[in-house]
Amino acid sequence: MTLLTSFAATAEAPSAAFVPSPNIANMRESATLAAAARARALRAAGRQIIDLGAGEPDFDTPSFIRAAAQRAIDAGATRYTATEGVLPLREAIAARARRDSTASAAPPLAAGEVVVSTGSKQSLFNACFTLFGPGDEVLVPTPGWTSYYEMLGLSRATAVPVHGRKTNGFKVTAAELDRAATSRTRGLIINSPCNPTGAVYDIEELSAILELASRAGWWVISDEIYRHICYAGVAPSLLAVAHARDRLVVVDGVAKAYAMTGWRIGWAIAPLPVAAAMTALQSHVTSNASAVSQQAALAALTMLEPAEVAIGRMVEEFRRRRNAAFVHLHDRVPAVYPEGAFYIFLDVSACSTDDDPGAAFAAHLLEHHDVAVVPGSAFLEPAWVRMSYAAPIEQVMEGARRIVAAHDELCASLPRHA
Ligand code: GLU
Repeated sequence: MTLLTSFAATAEAPSAAFVPSPNIANMRESATLAAAARARALRAAGRQIIDLGAGEPDFDTPSFIRAAAQRAIDAGATRYTATEGVLPLREAIAARARRDSTASAAPPLAAGEVVVSTGSKQSLFNACFTLFGPGDEVLVPTPGWTSYYEMLGLSRATAVPVHGRKTNGFKVTAAELDRAATSRTRGLIINSPCNPTGAVYDIEELSAILELASRAGWWVISDEIYRHICYAGVAPSLLAVAHARDRLVVVDGVAKAYAMTGWRIGWAIAPLPVAAAMTALQSHVTSNASAVSQQAALAALTMLEPAEVAIGRMVEEFRRRRNAAFVHLHDRVPAVYPEGAFYIFLDVSACSTDDDPGAAFAAHLLEHHDVAVVPGSAFLEPAWVRMSYAAPIEQVMEGARRIVAAHDELCASLPRHA
């Protein structure tokens, strides 16, 4: 549904005078945030909803980070900062990125390549808007996070979904990307660990993709926001593979690993001219990210010991929840077994003849079982749904149990084949 049709469908239709501009006429609102908003509204109306829709850690931000922010307010972190972020934070980000980088990547990564933004979402948008435009095609491994497709559309570029094989956890290979390329291909967006599948690309897979991109002269945007939520150790960064950074933009942030979603701090690491252009773009849109939040992020990235303990605890808890969910799901609803992030992507094609089986399943699950998930169409894989396990373990287990019950129920209601 485009924005125009979704407006028309709401009770509060826009006034006749409002015709959305061509900039947004084909834009769809974020399906992930819409699922979260729906669950919140139903809860506010008194329904006991188990919300497995939103991809948001339910943990509190660690206390050492909150304390640093409180101190920063009293120390005067209340004014504009440099658009690209305060230097100590950009230096801390550059230092961490240098630790992740291949030894041969020269020159060593510097703070000038870092632009801090209002969440990694803004960095991703700034990168798409800065690098791509009309006529450009950008490959998006699919299923992929809903906002990539929209950000490319807003940049007037064409998102080209490249579907990975189910047997490969939907990961795409360099050969599959190569086959999808045309003379108009300008870049690709890679996301590992992946939202919505939780699949993790290994060093060999990333190297092959980077090699193809560099041969073809493509830009690579690597969204690494879930890199620290990975069950076999931190997932490899493209910085660990790249020998040059001249066509690479790495995006990360504190939201997921540090349970800091509401603080809105993300960043991009980009070649100097791209970083300058992204900063200029941001200077017209939001200016600097919140000054207090930048100080909180600085504490997160520089107080290494408490940070490691906090992340370690949260990742362990996510692992427990994933395992608990699979106690119910195992062999009952086909799924990608996630190695990172906090999502389980489930195949519900067997229990629906609907054109959009994932949406039909999600609607039934919410209506009859009070569980919110996100339909796979948000990630361009309509026969699937995504459940988040960033929720208390009892809710994850009960939610998984109800997903299986709904699946069984819907499968049983299908007309039997002769
Ligand atoms: N990225 C998370 C998700 O996929 C948070 C919501 C959003 O910004 O999309 O659920």
